Amino acid sequence: MAAMRALSGAAILWAWEVGAAQHPLDRALTMLGAACPDVPRERLATLSVGERDARLLALRERQFGAALPGYAECPRCGERLEFTLDAVALRGDAPAGPVPDAPARTYDVAAEGYELRFRLPDSRDLAAVVATVGGDPAAGGRLLARRCVLSATRDGAAVDPGELPEAALDGLSRRMAEVDPGADLLLDLRCPACDHGWQAPFDPGAFLWAELAVQARRLLREIHALARAYGWREPDILALSPWRRRYYLELVDG
Ligand SMILES: [Zn+2]
Repeated sequence: MAAMRALSGAAILWAWEVGAAQHPLDRALTMLGAACPDVPRERLATLSVGERDARLLALRERQFGAALPGYAECPRCGERLEFTLDAVALRGDAPAGPVPDAPARTYDVAAEGYELRFRLPDSRDLAAVVATVGGDPAAGGRLLARRCVLSATRDGAAVDPGELPEAALDGLSRRMAEVDPGADLLLDLRCPACDHGWQAPFDPGAFLWAELAVQARRLLREIHALARAYGWREPDILALSPWRRRYYLELVDG
């Protein structure tokens, strides 16, 4: 299976144009698909959320480097914090290499007297939650259990995964977070002004999308300026190396 590659100018514009009309879940797959054109989208959709996000971070690293500029506002005093995140550290041990052909791994957990065998939620499962229960977390947890719990037993007797009690679902979701730690990235932040500490979620897909959108608009401005100055066509301008494009732009501006 082919490895991930950095996005060309044409691939950035394609991902931006396709992703602009998409839900963030699909957008993440569009960005990964642009970087792994040999991997079918349906296969990318079966990556667990942590595996998907690790690859988005690997793509970010390949495209723009490992240092991610971050900012946040202190919820207590309003101080604005600026900091740098490290894509490699955020990714941790999560696999970020080529997408394997193997079927999703299964895991076991004992929770509140129930023995559960499950697979990790993936993009298809999250899309189902968004489509059917929206933002209701309890209903979302029950739907994920129905989709991801492959077998449930209590005292040796089979149980319907859709009928598990809340406490068993809590145990399941704790175990899922343990085996897919990259699925729910939390930043530990501390305010230098008032010493307040808090956790903020970090979404690699949203972060990379915002950067790609900036990059896409910059590319379009460059194409516009060069096409107007020289009469070149868009594909020919995109085929130039960024370095050569910049040089021509300097000549146009100068
Ligand atoms: Zn503060």
